[in-house]
Amino acid sequence: MQQPGKCIFCGGTGLTKQHIWPNWLRKVIPRDANFHNQLNRHNVAFNPGKTSSMSVNEFQKQGHLGTRQVRNVCKKCNEGWMSEMEQKAQSMISEMIAGNSVTLAFDDCHTLANWVTMTMIMAEYIDTFTQAIPVIHRHFLYEFQMPPTGWKIWIGNFSGKDWKFRYRHATNVVTTVHEAMLHSNGKRKLSPNVQFSTMVIGKFIFHCASGPELLIEKCQWNDEWGLTKIWPIAKKKCFVFENKIIWPSKIIINDMMALAISEHLSKQMTGKTSK
Ligand SMILES: [Zn+2]
Repeated sequence: MQQPGKCIFCGGTGLTKQHIWPNWLRKVIPRDANFHNQLNRHNVAFNPGKTSSMSVNEFQKQGHLGTRQVRNVCKKCNEGWMSEMEQKAQSMISEMIAGNSVTLAFDDCHTLANWVTMTMIMAEYIDTFTQAIPVIHRHFLYEFQMPPTGWKIWIGNFSGKDWKFRYRHATNVVTTVHEAMLHSNGKRKLSPNVQFSTMVIGKFIFHCASGPELLIEKCQWNDEWGLTKIWPIAKKKCFVFENKIIWPSKIIINDMMALAISEHLSKQMTGKTSK
């Protein structure tokens, strides 16, 4: 997708090693494991909701998930706008991880949505085979400091046992039968074009979907899932309480619900029940 040695956001050179999840998180949420499991799931749907195929592979990696690093951004981005984006969100995220109530106005939703987008773009580099976020989306975040069109982000209130610091990523290739045939004949490469990421950090859970706008537009959650959309939102409408979002919401998302959330939209899009 990207030439080796070039910054994934600005295209500049001089790459530095960057933590996917900020290092200050270790002070807020203990890194109490010395290994983590990585599961890569890859779905292919020929015409949304029709025929599909799927591949899954799982393996164990050393160290806590929070220590994962990638060398894909330049020093200027890393120490510049990325660091600013992170600092802006830090206190809000810290409160949410601890389960302390926060009130989110439009600007807070924007700050949080930016951080989620940046972090989920970085996290996709854990497995480049299932990478689905296109270069144009990375450039958009860099250029405009807001999530690109075709992104939706939800937050929720989590309490569980298994999910303490967990990231799940499902990608789909949504294409036509014709394209798929060209692919099986070796004439066309099929790259994932839709991704669903779910992340739990302490009491804070977020979920995001990105891909072609028309497909993402259909991604919705009913109230009983306990997720509140923070992006996209209109500046003065769509807030649930006096133009603001109060977090945590009353619905508590547990381990089973988190797992279901991480797979639901992806399954819906491929029309297939997966592992
Ligand atoms: Zn850069």
